[in-house]
Amino acid sequence: MSKTILYIEDDLSNRLLVRHLLGNAGYRVVEAVDGLNGVQAAQAERPDLILMDLGIPGLDGYETTTRIKSLAGLGHIPIIALTATAREGDRQRALTAGCDGYLTKPINVDRLPQQIAEFLNGFRETVAADEEKAYLREYNPRLVDRLEQKIKELSRANQALVHTDLMKSRFINLAAHELRTPLTALHGYIGMLATQLAAETDENTQQIFEGVNSSVDRLRGIVQDMLDITRIEAGKLQLRHSPVSLALIFNKIRRDFENVAQKRQQRLAIAEVEHMPMMWGDGERITQILRNLVSNAIKYTPDGGEIALNAEIFNEPATPGAEPRQLVRITLRDTGIGIAPDQQERIFESFYEVRDIELHSSSKTDFMGGGAGLGLPIARGVAEAHGGSLWVESNGHDPERCPGSTFYLILPLGTPATG
Ligand code: ADP
Repeated sequence: MSKTILYIEDDLSNRLLVRHLLGNAGYRVVEAVDGLNGVQAAQAERPDLILMDLGIPGLDGYETTTRIKSLAGLGHIPIIALTATAREGDRQRALTAGCDGYLTKPINVDRLPQQIAEFLNGFRETVAADEEKAYLREYNPRLVDRLEQKIKELSRANQALVHTDLMKSRFINLAAHELRTPLTALHGYIGMLATQLAAETDENTQQIFEGVNSSVDRLRGIVQDMLDITRIEAGKLQLRHSPVSLALIFNKIRRDFENVAQKRQQRLAIAEVEHMPMMWGDGERITQILRNLVSNAIKYTPDGGEIALNAEIFNEPATPGAEPRQLVRITLRDTGIGIAPDQQERIFESFYEVRDIELHSSSKTDFMGGGAGLGLPIARGVAEAHGGSLWVESNGHDPERCPGSTFYLILPLGTPATG
C-alpha cells in the first residue's frame, strides 16, 4: 500500500508541485492549508510522514509541529520542516520544536522523493542537547507572547460580540414596543367595527372579521413574546406570586387545546391533579409555559398521535446546608417526530429553528407549522425565574418512526416566604 504524506502548506503552487512530484513517486499526498487544519488532518489521516511549511497562517509551522508531536498516537510520525526564509538558527529552531528534518525552499525537484524516502526509512536530523536548551529558552517566551496576543484578540472579539448581542436585544425590545401600540389600537378598532356592523354583516364579512382578528391576535402574541424574551435575557422578568392551583391550570389547558387536538385526531390525556397541594408562583406565567409546550407537542406530533400531561410531587435530594425543597415535576410526553440529541439544548436558544425558516407555515397547531422560535426559551426563562428548570429527552428525530419527546418541567412547590 502506498505511504501517505500530509503536506501542510498555504501556497497553492507549492502544493501543486509537491502533489505532482510525490504523486509520481507513488505516494498518496493529502494536504492542509493552515496549522489547525493540519492538526485535524494528522489526527484523521495518521500519515506516514508530514511535510510542514513553517510559514503557515494561524498556528505557525513550529507550533503545529509541537502540537502534533504532543498528541497521543502521533508523536512517532516524522515531521520534515520546509522553509523559504532560512535565517540563522532556523534549522535548530525547527528541530527544537519537534521536527525530525529540515529542507529549504525552493524545493529541489530532483531530490525531494529521495529525501522523503530517507526519512521514511528512519533517517533523522538531530540537534545537540546544549543547543536545544538555548533554543527552547527562546521558543518558550515566544509561545507565551503569542498566547497573550491571542487572548487579547479573543477578549476584544468577545467584547464586540457582547455589544452586538446587546444591540440585538435593544432592537427587539424597541421594535416590539413600537409595534405594540398600533396593534393594540388596531385590535380595539376591529372590535368596535365588528360590534357596529354586527347586525348588518353577512356570514362572509363576519368570516373576514374573524380572519383579521385572529391575525392581529397572532401578531400581538409574537410582539408579547419578543418583549418577554428581552426581559428574560436582561434578568428583568417580574413574577406575580400568588397561590396557584395546578388543577385549574390543567383544566385551562384542556379547554384551550381540546378542539385543536380533536381536529388533528390527537388524544390529549391530561392527568387529574385535584389532590395536589396548592403551589406558590405566577399562575399566568406557569400557564404560559404549558401552553407553549402543549402547542409544540400538538404541532410536532402527526395526526392521530398522543399527548400526555402529568404532574407529581417529589422531595429534592438533601444538600448540605440547604433546606430540602418540595418540587413539582410536570411531564409532557408526545408521540411526535422527536428531537435529535445535538438539538436538545439548542432548541432552548432564542429564535432557534431546527428547520429552514422559509419552510414553515407559521401555524400554532398545524403539523410541523413553525413559529418565531421563542416558545421554549421563554418557557425555560419563566421556569428558571421560579427557581425551577425545563429540559427535554428524546430518542432522536425521525418524522417517519416518530420516537416522541418528553419535556420535564420542575418547579418548586414554594411558600409565600420563597416568592
Ligand atoms: P417554535 O416557535 O419554532 O415552535 P419553540 O421555541 O417553541 O419555537 O421550539 C423550537 C424548536 O424546537 C421548534 O422549531 C422545533 O423544531 C423543536 N420542538 C419543540 N417542541 C418539540 C416537540 N414536542 N417535538 C419535536 N420538536 C420540537
